[in-house]
Amino acid sequence: MTGNKSTVLVVEDDRYILKVLETLLSSGGYKVVSAASGADARTLFSSHMPQMILLDLGLPDVDGITLLKEFRGVTSVPVIAVTARSTERDVIIALDNGADDYVTKPFSAPELLARMRAVLRRNAHEQSSETFYSVGGFTIDFDKRSVIVDGEPVRLTQVNTA
Ligand code: CA
Repeated sequence: MTGNKSTVLVVEDDRYILKVLETLLSSGGYKVVSAASGADARTLFSSHMPQMILLDLGLPDVDGITLLKEFRGVTSVPVIAVTARSTERDVIIALDNGADDYVTKPFSAPELLARMRAVLRRNAHEQSSETFYSVGGFTIDFDKRSVIVDGEPVRLTQVNTA
């Protein structure tokens, strides 16, 4: 994968932490796309189709868990929850709602990079056994029953039998 950097969407409203993460991930060989709010995160996810998401759970405009569920509805890319909440319960909620891993602030830079490598490895392994059909900007994920056109998830109409 030389010359083919993984794009990471970093969702973090704290400007200082965002700056630290941008510097850390860039030096770690990642291409960083930064979002300071949930709204930005939704837009940038669609336009950049990142290979990984670092998601701060404490955002100003949307609950991080809500955003996590939204991402999980449309993508299986790894999500690492970054959180100041370090109680066992918060960690369980994040993992149960689709986070692949989590780090708590203040985090150790080498540990975060190692966790990112680990989830990317696991994801690469899973992708090879997943049922995907992709052509041009059009992707069908049979496992998740989702369709994505040019990075935008397409809402499939459900037949209402009620
Ligand atoms: Ca925050």
